[in-house]
Amino acid sequence: MNKKTQSEWLEKLPLLQSVVEQKEVLWCNPSVEWVAAGLLKTHLSKVDIVDASDRLERFAPYLAKAFPDTDKGVIESPLTPIPKMKRELETAYAIQIPGKLLLKQDNALPISGSIKARGGIYEVLKHAETLAINSQLLDSTKDYSQFDTPVFRELFAKHKIAVGSTGNLGLSIGIMSAKLGFHVTVHMSADAKQWKKDLLRSKGVHVVEYIDDYSKAVEEGRRQAEADPSCHFVDDENSTDLFMGYAVAGERVAAQLKEQNIIVDEAHPLFVYLPCGVGGGPGGVAFGLKLALGDHVHCLFAEPTHSPCMMIGMMTGMHDQVSVADFGLDNKTAADGLAVGTASAFVGKTMEPFLTGCYTVEDQTLFTLLKKLADSEDIWLEPSALAGMTGPVQVIQSKLPSADFKNTTHLVWGTGGNMVPADEMKRYYNHTGK
Ligand SMILES: *Cc1c(COP(=O)(O)O)cnc(C)c1O
Repeated sequence: MNKKTQSEWLEKLPLLQSVVEQKEVLWCNPSVEWVAAGLLKTHLSKVDIVDASDRLERFAPYLAKAFPDTDKGVIESPLTPIPKMKRELETAYAIQIPGKLLLKQDNALPISGSIKARGGIYEVLKHAETLAINSQLLDSTKDYSQFDTPVFRELFAKHKIAVGSTGNLGLSIGIMSAKLGFHVTVHMSADAKQWKKDLLRSKGVHVVEYIDDYSKAVEEGRRQAEADPSCHFVDDENSTDLFMGYAVAGERVAAQLKEQNIIVDEAHPLFVYLPCGVGGGPGGVAFGLKLALGDHVHCLFAEPTHSPCMMIGMMTGMHDQVSVADFGLDNKTAADGLAVGTASAFVGKTMEPFLTGCYTVEDQTLFTLLKKLADSEDIWLEPSALAGMTGPVQVIQSKLPSADFKNTTHLVWGTGGNMVPADEMKRYYNHTGK
């Protein structure tokens, strides 16, 4: 494929000018289609999500035993109305948000306190299950709590798991793999926080640090893992297992909405705002939501103004063949979970018919909203996890159809926070900007 220069792209796609200028922008995806039509363009389907969901159910007895903080072995988070935060947004942006505002609290997910407790843990469990089946270790009871026994740990001790991560994926993979008994290595980029490295090392995880960014850590981790047949590399950019682990969230949220008597149909649309790094987490969740709730759920990805890799990748259709650096952006952001310069092509292509759009957020906005949410609702998220919070403002100001209905529900995906040490959180809260 021929590679256009920046000025050629700017001529073709004028919105990119504002992206280059690091302004907060909203891009509407012209390729979004009905779910049924979109499904014809991917090999992924409901069957894959059901398979993942069933597998998590099989593992629940194990997780309940190994992680008593799970709800009977189910890794799920609350769906919380945040009316006080809605008023804060209305005041700060001088707009009306006629619908409801909900927060999906993945900050409170058990085991690793972020959205990565969905996909990351799922992929490790699936790998462990495959090894156990291949070794004919599962007894006839098929009770998965036996994964928490010495024979299983001895098997897994002969195997390795590796991952490249900006932090939270490393935490999920590291904690889960170490618990099962695997040798696990986390390849971390320079922007990963020290406390994450310390925490992982305290659990017996091997942490390798790189001075380069995320893509470099992944590349190096992949290269080392490929040379070792006993090593399973969790590929954040290409893994369908990760994607499906995230996608299970769709049916779970559908059930939570039903419990709260919230309807999703043409007259009651649902807008969902998902912070996006490489794309697997928000992509998987959005895919699951589209399949569970249909055409009237509208999903948008949120990215930092310095790292809008998915927006650029989808807008140009070049996916992983372009990076934010090609547009003069430095990929430097306090939202460490979103500090990704090149998006996953697998996710970008899969999401093409399903995604309503992408928008960007300034770092300073993340800190301002972090404080507002803590003050108004006493909910504490990490900076990355606030990227979804300007979603309602973006879609209403941009006059997206049905965004300002009184029966519209806005769902902000709060992707992480509970693992952040108190002193670090205090610094976020007191962040005054420069
Ligand atoms: C990883 C992460 C995301 C984005 O997930 P991707 O799969 O990288 O797109 C968002 N928020 C937080 C807190 C994360 O850790």
